[in-house]
Amino acid sequence: MEDENCVFCMIVEGKIPAKKVYDDALMMGVLDINPASKGHMLMIPKKHYNNIYEIPQDEFLQYYSIARAVGYAIMLALAPNNVDILYTKELTKGTVTPHAIIHLLPRYDDDTINHVWQPLKLEESDFAAIGNAIESAIEKVKGADIPKASEKPVEEIKKQEGPKPIEEKKPGITISKKVVVF
Ligand SMILES: [Zn+2]
Repeated sequence: MEDENCVFCMIVEGKIPAKKVYDDALMMGVLDINPASKGHMLMIPKKHYNNIYEIPQDEFLQYYSIARAVGYAIMLALAPNNVDILYTKELTKGTVTPHAIIHLLPRYDDDTINHVWQPLKLEESDFAAIGNAIESAIEKVKGADIPKASEKPVEEIKKQEGPKPIEEKKPGITISKKVVVF
């Protein structure tokens, strides 16, 4: 399952030194060497997945359960205001994360983390179109087949998006039944 070119797989295998704080059969937790805040940790599944949407449901729940527990430990240890639990492909601008890691971001009054955005101004018709698109995609997810390893559904979806009209039809999305349970 490991990807020999993936830096996070190398960390898991001990080929790259890391500031390890947590280790079990499923996950390793390390201090980010370029921390966004004091106690910023990377929770790394030991299996390589390109993104969380490839992770089977049962594993996904275990990873997030462990991440929440370690986040709570950070709360106890460092007394931040909160610990944000974040999955993203691009936390640092221009740097795409190849491995489905979960960031634990302790938040302090004086941190420089900025999740703040300017709300989009949308018309009622935009909300209707967006809502309808997601609702119909949810129906596809309910009946979806398991993706093959060669398929990269999330990356493909990302490429097909961009500044196109909301009404535009997107190609079919393949998502694992194991990944999404309703
Ligand atoms: Zn990896």
